[in-house]
Amino acid sequence: QGQVSQGAVHFKDVAFGYDARLPVLHDLSLTIPAGSFYGIVGHTGSGKSTLLSLLLRFYTPQAGQIEIDGFPLLEIGDAAFRSGVGLVPQDPFLLASSARDNIDMGRKLSQEEIETAAKAANVHELILSLENGYDTDMGESGTRLSTGQKQLIAIARALAGKPRILLLDEATSHIDSETEQIVQQALSRLHGKVTMISIAHRLSTIRDADQIIVLNHGHIAEKGNHDEL
Ligand code: ATP
Ligand code: MG
Repeated sequence: QGQVSQGAVHFKDVAFGYDARLPVLHDLSLTIPAGSFYGIVGHTGSGKSTLLSLLLRFYTPQAGQIEIDGFPLLEIGDAAFRSGVGLVPQDPFLLASSARDNIDMGRKLSQEEIETAAKAANVHELILSLENGYDTDMGESGTRLSTGQKQLIAIARALAGKPRILLLDEATSHIDSETEQIVQQALSRLHGKVTMISIAHRLSTIRDADQIIVLNHGHIAEKGNHDEL
C-alpha cells in the first residue's frame, strides 16, 4: 500500500479531457521534488484547476501516470491520501461556528495544535484581533471575513492535518494587498516544510516559488522562476 511520506509529485505524459474527445490537458510531464514550491499560472480555461483535480483523484487521466513518492495515485489508501494531501479551495467554505471549529473541522484537535496551524498559516494574529479570538463566530454577519482572510483560515485548516503536500487554488476575486501579503508571507514561511503547488492569479503571491509553470491550452508553455519569466 502506497504512502505519502515525502511529498514528491510526478506527472508522466498525462492526458485528460472531461469529454475524452476534447482534451483539456495533454503531454503533461512535471516532476515536483518533495518540499518544493511550485506556482501555476495561465489564462482562464488553461487547465490549472483540472491539474489539481487529477492530483486529488477527482478524475482519472485517460493516458499517462501520476505518482506521489513513486506510488501511482490509485495505490495510495484513502486514509493515507486524505492526511497526506491538503487542499485550499478557490472559495473556501466556512462553518457558522467559531474560528477554532473552522480549523478543527471535527478532528478534536487540541488548542495548541489549532494555534500551531494558525500561526503557520499566518492567521493567528488576525484571529486574536477578532472580538472573541478563537471563539469568534465566523458565520455572524458582523464578523464576515474577506475572501483572502477566508483563504488564510482554509490554509490553517489544511495545515492542521499535517499534510506533506499542500494544494492551493488562489481566489480569483479581489484580495486586498495587505491580505495578499499575509498569504505570500505564509507560503514563504512554509517553503521547504511541505510541498506546495499553488495556482496564482497574481505573480506576486508566488514570487518565491522555486518554479513557475505557465499552462497554455493544457500544456506547459514555459517554466522558470519569477526572475526568469
Ligand atoms: P480559471 O483560471 O478560470 O480557474 P483553469 O485554468 O482553472 O481556469 P479549468 O477549470 O481547469 O481551467 O478548465 C479547463 C477546461 O476544462 C475549460 O475549458 C473548462 O471549461 C473545462 N472544464 C473544467 N471543469 C469542467 C467540468 N467539471 N466538466 C466539463 N468541463 C470542464
Ligand atoms: Mg481554476
